[in-house]
Amino acid sequence: MDLGIAGKTALVCGASKGLGYGCALALVKEGVNVLVVARGQEALDDAAQRLAAAATGGAQVQAVVADITTEAGRAAVFGVQRDFDIVVTNAGGPPPGDFRDWDRDAWVKAVDANMLTPIELIKATVDGMAQRGFGRIVNITSSSVKSPIDILGLSNGARSGLTGFVAGVARSGIASQGVTINNLLPGSFDTDRLRNTAIGAAKKTGQPIEAIQEARKKTIPARRFGTPEEFGAICAFLCSVHAAYMTGQNVLADGGAYPGTY
Ligand code: NAP
Repeated sequence: MDLGIAGKTALVCGASKGLGYGCALALVKEGVNVLVVARGQEALDDAAQRLAAAATGGAQVQAVVADITTEAGRAAVFGVQRDFDIVVTNAGGPPPGDFRDWDRDAWVKAVDANMLTPIELIKATVDGMAQRGFGRIVNITSSSVKSPIDILGLSNGARSGLTGFVAGVARSGIASQGVTINNLLPGSFDTDRLRNTAIGAAKKTGQPIEAIQEARKKTIPARRFGTPEEFGAICAFLCSVHAAYMTGQNVLADGGAYPGTY
């Protein structure tokens, strides 16, 4: 299927590895120019090279080393490129823990990274998209928005705030101007973050990492973790011309793990 977005320009945050990289890869394969962001230079340069090698139709790859959760980081990105047709918001998730141990600073950090940063990115790009008559914003959130995980209270809370905001803004005036905003909710995907969680659990319980991973897979009807490539393909579809009538949605990609009918 031709997604109809060749020649468009995308900002993909948190894209040197994992789910963000998967999204950038799917987009460059469709001929979309991408500007990728991450904090670590080495991994980002390496990712940019692999993306350029995979690009079709002369799509260009730019890389900006920045912490997207800071005002300075976002200014660095918009200093390189102002107008984007597609924005994929993403940053590292907050740490797990017990809510009794989280102080105001911990909450402010989580809300900053996983709620206010996507809102700032939407604010900076959405009106330009509306004026040009085309825009796609995809926020990488988490299945924890629909099915909370107790030790991830910072994520459950901050991302639910973003979800409520997006539900409103996606249905505002921009909806009739060719702009869609959707949230893409990962369940368990095989990335560094998932592996690091398993390493943490292995240290805590004394179980081998493989045993922890296998036990987790058994809780998923698909009996496996998703791949960043699969996640990227869903993101690219949400960014496509074919998804123009889909907005304000929370799209789960979790191998069937969410047990509800709706
Ligand atoms: P990952 O493999 O750790 O990759 C995270 C990427 O984001 C890296 O490129 C990282 O590079 C970049 N990044 C992190 N913080 C950043 C910041 N402040 N500014 C710019 N770039 C930043 O993580 P992932 O598994 O792809 O997860 C992506 C998001 O999805 C996270 O919010 C995570 O909580 C959420 N999620 C993931 C899963 C899963 O199964 N993988 C499930 C539910 C939710 P640098 O560190 O160099 O900046």
